[in-house]
Amino acid sequence: MMALATPVGRALPDGADHEELAVVRGERSGATMSVAIHSTLLGPALGGARIWHYDRDQDGVADSLRLAEAMTYKAAAAGLDLGGGKGVICSPTPDAPTGELRRAILHDFGDLVESLGGRYITAEDVGTATEDMVEISSRTTHVTGLPVERGGVGDPSPFTAAGVQAAMRAACAHAFGSSALAGRSVVVIGLGHVGERLARGLTEVGADVTVSDIQSEKRALARELDARWLEPDAAIVAELDVVAPCAVGGAIHARNVDSLACRVVCGAANNQLADERLADRLHERGILFTPDFIVNAGGLINVYRELHGTDAAHATRLVLGIEDVVATIFAEATERGTTPLAAARAHASRRLDAAR
Ligand code: NAD
Repeated sequence: MMALATPVGRALPDGADHEELAVVRGERSGATMSVAIHSTLLGPALGGARIWHYDRDQDGVADSLRLAEAMTYKAAAAGLDLGGGKGVICSPTPDAPTGELRRAILHDFGDLVESLGGRYITAEDVGTATEDMVEISSRTTHVTGLPVERGGVGDPSPFTAAGVQAAMRAACAHAFGSSALAGRSVVVIGLGHVGERLARGLTEVGADVTVSDIQSEKRALARELDARWLEPDAAIVAELDVVAPCAVGGAIHARNVDSLACRVVCGAANNQLADERLADRLHERGILFTPDFIVNAGGLINVYRELHGTDAAHATRLVLGIEDVVATIFAEATERGTTPLAAARAHASRRLDAAR
């Protein structure tokens, strides 16, 4: 039996062009959670479920709307037959919920996903992992990113990290005339599932790596990799070749955009720009912003296998192909005199327009 969650609202805010928004207060957990479906034009809306503590629940709902839209463009640009959606669970505790509370939250979220009848399919995101997908799968079948032993493709983050590194090669080729990452100074900000793997991958190819996180225990990774450590506020404005935001969104905002001192921004985080108009400012300042929804499509490409039964080799080829997609977008931006973000949107929109 599905527990009855308390609906908090379904009304879309003015100006949102999403198909659907569902906000509930979980019956078991009392946590506010939302699923935003931006588009199902190309297929069911697939997007991760985030657990994060927000000062106000409406900030979590706003995040689900923003992130869902980015998923539409990500899937379209990556050539996948998927729409864009996102789940956001407002954690009732400042720290990651654990034990019975976590289970209750995940079951409530599973019921919410099930109530959408397959129009939204969930997966991992910030604050959730493969084992959480197993818990969610006890309430709904519309879940991907399950462990291999449960018929899934496992953690998407290695594929996301590989895609970021591929994108970084294209960005360096555009900015410096060489795609080689050896010797490039790069700061990875946010050392979670993706950031840690990226930092390791960059170290392996001989990049000059700096790492940063709000959790000071992550300094252990700096020691292990023999990498420098910077606090996040210093990392984003560090004078280095590449800044790789791999934490939560909004790393670049109106207050720090004029202080950035790198040549390239290329990271995994969704919605790195607090406001999309900041892409123009970065462009004016000669900083190459690599559109995040193109850069971080690797995980989505991999979980897509779970729905379509393609093999890992095929996914790997597509993930490494992000290098070519990014190169094409930079070339189109140069040709049309636009920002890479505008070129990336146009690239994805062509596919969406054709489907319309
Ligand atoms: P995660 O939760 O595993 O890690 C996030 C890390 O960022 C944590 O170590 C956290 O302490 C750190 N962090 C949080 N706020 C910070 C701040 N202000 N400054 C510095 N560090 C901070 O998340 P993840 O799965 O690694 O995802 C990272 C980003 O990449 C997210 O924006 C996510 O949406 C995006 N992304 C992830 C995937 C994936 O496969 N996991 C796919 C596409 C996009």
